[in-house]
Amino acid sequence: MGNRRTDRPRDTIIRAAGLYPDRRTPHNFPMAILKIARMGHPILRRPAEAVADPTEPAVRQLVADMVETMQDARGTGLAAPQVHVPARVVVYFVSENRLQEGEEPVPLTALVNPVLTPIGPKRDYDWEGCLSVPGLTGLVPRHERVRLRAITPDGDVIDKTVAGFHARVLQHEIDHLDGFLYPQRMDDLSLLLFQEEMRNGIPERARLLLEKTDEQNVA
Ligand SMILES: [Zn+2]
Repeated sequence: MGNRRTDRPRDTIIRAAGLYPDRRTPHNFPMAILKIARMGHPILRRPAEAVADPTEPAVRQLVADMVETMQDARGTGLAAPQVHVPARVVVYFVSENRLQEGEEPVPLTALVNPVLTPIGPKRDYDWEGCLSVPGLTGLVPRHERVRLRAITPDGDVIDKTVAGFHARVLQHEIDHLDGFLYPQRMDDLSLLLFQEEMRNGIPERARLLLEKTDEQNVA
């Protein structure tokens, strides 16, 4: 467990509680910022276990803590193994500034026992970062379109097709549940960079792969 924080901003509490509009009781909803495991820690290599009852209160508490941890670290997604909990739970959102053409933003979402199935052979390249691999970024190929099946902590069933950056975030987060980090999905490790060094320009090969991805998406 990480440090408890007492000065958390009020909007963080409301946004996390917004996952559960029927039970909005922020004053009864203590949350914690959890310690994030970094690449090399065994918890990140171990497959996580399915959650027997997605609606149990312990899952709700874990999700609230993960949301606060993710927002504190300015991430767009977080998987339970990253906070040392080997359970198949992820939280994420997709903000407007990461959207590709024609995509919708995704509100803060919690998934329990998610399963992804790729749809079609098409893959895209884009930059990814990870709270467990701080400071680095890499160009990662991902399926352009996937089918998502999952349960929410409210017991709702999700079964839908997702594409683009949304599909990328899901593949990244659900990989954490199977013990994979994004560098293991890369096909050219020369495209693994410190984010700070991108100010000096990106490798020519990365530029070509990104242009190819853009052309495919326009076609
Ligand atoms: Zn990650």
